[in-house]
Amino acid sequence: EAKSKGRNRWCFFSFDLHQKSVERQSLTNDLRQALANDELFLLYQPIVDLKTNRLVKFEALIRWQHPVRGIVPPDTFIPVAEESGLISEIGDFVFKQSLRQLAQWRSHYAHDLMMSINISPYQLAAPDLHMVGWFDFLHKLGLPGESVSLEITENMLMHHTDVVSAQLLAFRDQGINVALDDFGTGYSALAYLNRLDIDYIKIDRSFVKDLLEGHMEKDLCEAIISMAHKLSLKVIAEGIETEQQAAILQQFGCDLGQGYLFAKPLPVEDAEALLASQMMEK
Ligand code: C2E
Ligand code: MG
Ligand code: MG
Ligand code: MG
Repeated sequence: EAKSKGRNRWCFFSFDLHQKSVERQSLTNDLRQALANDELFLLYQPIVDLKTNRLVKFEALIRWQHPVRGIVPPDTFIPVAEESGLISEIGDFVFKQSLRQLAQWRSHYAHDLMMSINISPYQLAAPDLHMVGWFDFLHKLGLPGESVSLEITENMLMHHTDVVSAQLLAFRDQGINVALDDFGTGYSALAYLNRLDIDYIKIDRSFVKDLLEGHMEKDLCEAIISMAHKLSLKVIAEGIETEQQAAILQQFGCDLGQGYLFAKPLPVEDAEALLASQMMEK
């Protein structure tokens, strides 16, 4: 009796795993087609100066318009891309597409606009052929390195190897900024981060969400911001959804903010309309 139950359970488990791996394989196959079929595209979410509410940069956020599944979010397909190695091609697409867009927007709307790009730890740990041409690409577009930030999640830096450090240094040599994404979700000490020569930290959305009077998150945010500033790091708060959160962060001297309160990730036309309206205000 017990034996057969155990066997049944095992069958269930194995069936489940099998389903998952089939699902993964099918996503991987589809993703291979996605680049060729132009199914990947970028949205641009504004990042604003919290003192003036002015747009200073965009974060490029990738989406996949799957022919059958509809829009697939990055949290679903980026891990698949990382496992299959497709991330290097996708990363190349994101870098080039977003910077072409930046160059165009800088010449039409705002000469000092900046672009922030998420980069996978897999790409940094195993630099690939695509990345070799990135600096040339930047120069051909006439973009200063300072107009570009690379966002790297905190956890990857915990496992940082000499290769990653060397990669970061190469970017820094070009003037490219480095931002630590989702700060607070990992285990890194700020002092340690300072050694890695980072320019920005992005306070994770989970802290901003509970940014209220009497909540621990409020003290934590204040401490993070003041410590970051002592280390000459700039601070961006993610996931700002209410006026109240924005006001508290501004009071703590947080430099930049991003979230639905200001704007959701926008398609190109909407981002452009925003740039145009901001130009009129000047
Ligand atoms: P992330 O870099 O931390 O990006 C911020 C995420 O928070 C985005 O989700 C954005 O849409 C969402 N967000 C922004 N403001 C708010 C808000 O006020 N409230 C809430 N609830 N959410 C907000 P998204 O676009 O789904 O991206 C998820 C993650 O996928 C990103 O987290 C990033 O780690 C990864 N990702 C996105 N695009 C790329 C890419 O081009 N390359 C790589 N390697 N990873 C990417
Ligand atoms: Mg990011
Ligand atoms: Mg983040
Ligand atoms: Mg995130």
